Amino acid sequence: MMRKDSFKPDSKLVMSVVPSPNHDARGARSDILLMHYTGMQTAEEAVARLTDPGVKVSCHYFVYEDSRIEQLVPEARRAWHAGASSWKGAIDINARSIGIEVAHPGHEYGYRDFPDAQIDALIALCRDIIARHHIRRERVLAHSDVAPARKKDPGEKFPWARLAQAGIGLWVEPAPIAEGRTFSANDKGAEVEKLQKQLARFGYDLKITGRYDDNTRSVVTAFQRHFRPARVDGLADPSTVETLRRLLTR
Ligand SMILES: [Zn+2]
Repeated sequence: MMRKDSFKPDSKLVMSVVPSPNHDARGARSDILLMHYTGMQTAEEAVARLTDPGVKVSCHYFVYEDSRIEQLVPEARRAWHAGASSWKGAIDINARSIGIEVAHPGHEYGYRDFPDAQIDALIALCRDIIARHHIRRERVLAHSDVAPARKKDPGEKFPWARLAQAGIGLWVEPAPIAEGRTFSANDKGAEVEKLQKQLARFGYDLKITGRYDDNTRSVVTAFQRHFRPARVDGLADPSTVETLRRLLTR
């Protein structure tokens, strides 16, 4: 029997609807697809939390490790997954995004590769959402991209290159890691300012201070988790700078 708060899923790939009460009206069109990991020991715990009226968090879709897909919030509604966040100057990311939670223990409970079956299901779901909402490649983002000081998910093991091969998200081959001028804590000057401007132009929320401050380090770390995952250390080495340049000039 259908629960009275249930709804018709937006995607044919959804195997079950588990309604969350945690949503409200959108103020904008969905033009961002936001990726998360749950960061909890079990998927069941995560779904319980995402549907708990006392916790006030949710997402639109939930992808299990075994490839099952559940929908928790209708796409037309604003789910509560991004928190305080920003991209390209917009701050209400929940209002303009569709949020997918991927069941995964996260950095806290043993960070590991995402299972192939789960990623296959995620790719199919993303393609379906992107086609219906015409979401642009450069607007498929990590939670850590829109909240770099607070969030690590879905992290450096998330297979962005594989998603890009399936037409999802922006990707360029990362420049190889090599010796050379590297920016780090409290470096100052025109070169740091230039890097900050490029990161801000790409979309990150970053004040141009001309100093390699904590926010710059957080943003560089988020950038590396997504686009140069071979080394995530928050230091702007030549590979990081060149990978960013390739993305901006692709
Ligand atoms: Zn998240």
